[in-house]
Amino acid sequence: APERGGFFGRLRDSLAKSRRALTAEIGAGTFSVGDEEAWERLEEALIHGDVGVRATAELVRRLEARGEIGDLGEALAEEIEALFGPAVTLDLSASPTVILVVGVNGTGKTTTVGKLAQKLREHGRTVLVGAGDTFRAAAEEQLEIWAERAGADFVGAPAGGDPAAVAFDAVEAGRARGRDVVIVDTAGRLHTQSNLMEELAKVRRVIEGRIAGAPHETLLVVDATTGQNGLQQARLFGESAGVTGVALTKLDGSAKGGVAVAIAYELGLPVKLVGVGEGIDDLRPFDPREFARALVS
Ligand code: GDP
Repeated sequence: APERGGFFGRLRDSLAKSRRALTAEIGAGTFSVGDEEAWERLEEALIHGDVGVRATAELVRRLEARGEIGDLGEALAEEIEALFGPAVTLDLSASPTVILVVGVNGTGKTTTVGKLAQKLREHGRTVLVGAGDTFRAAAEEQLEIWAERAGADFVGAPAGGDPAAVAFDAVEAGRARGRDVVIVDTAGRLHTQSNLMEELAKVRRVIEGRIAGAPHETLLVVDATTGQNGLQQARLFGESAGVTGVALTKLDGSAKGGVAVAIAYELGLPVKLVGVGEGIDDLRPFDPREFARALVS
């Protein structure tokens, strides 16, 4: 039986809506391998649960290959865990490690930067955050408050508000002060998609120009409540923004937590962090085993 309490208890709570929606539709209690309708119900439930068409087909294929299924919830959890693959954590080996945080406005980017700074500080790392979201007026002020609470250095936007200039200043300051991690926030105006990708490419070039091999991580923030839209964003950013991992936010209150499976399996992007609330402590490492069980069993 999976461990209860602690982080798992918390994630289970956060995924309650997603789990309820999925398990009610699957009707695991009445599932039998010989029942064609039961398989169809399972397939539909997974697709409705934003698991994605390809991941759903693969899950059904793997379950069918088992021949016999005792506890459907547990069997499904095992196969979802297998699709996720092993946990992938942030690579913090470089000094400084530069983490670029990208994503569409409103997904929780700035909040995630603040939470991540807090987590890293708790683990004894020195941190500097750069307020590269020069588009949203309140983002800079918001991030400064979070940085202060986390005990991280803060680099704001110079007059004129060029995100690449913020990235430059942040990386320079982080290196000069010997900080372990530099986290750079960015703006995410979706209505100008190609401009956004160009702007992000420019930010990347500036960072690369300061430190070879940087940014070491490019975290894409995806709002779980947006389901298939979030998957589409992940596809777009994954193709053109050098994404190394996903932070999936707002899992609390979302019924679409299954999108994590689609992101990981269909796009091959590892989910590295999950956001489970608005507070500074509400960011957790992604654990495939715990997540899979909290989702369906
Ligand atoms: P940004 O525009 O992408 O920088 O988004 P913000 O960081 O400003 O976040 C947008 C809203 O989402 C804010 O109200 C945050 O408090 C909220 N938010 C961010 N992450 C989470 C989360 O994991 N759970 C919940 N419930 N809300 C979140």
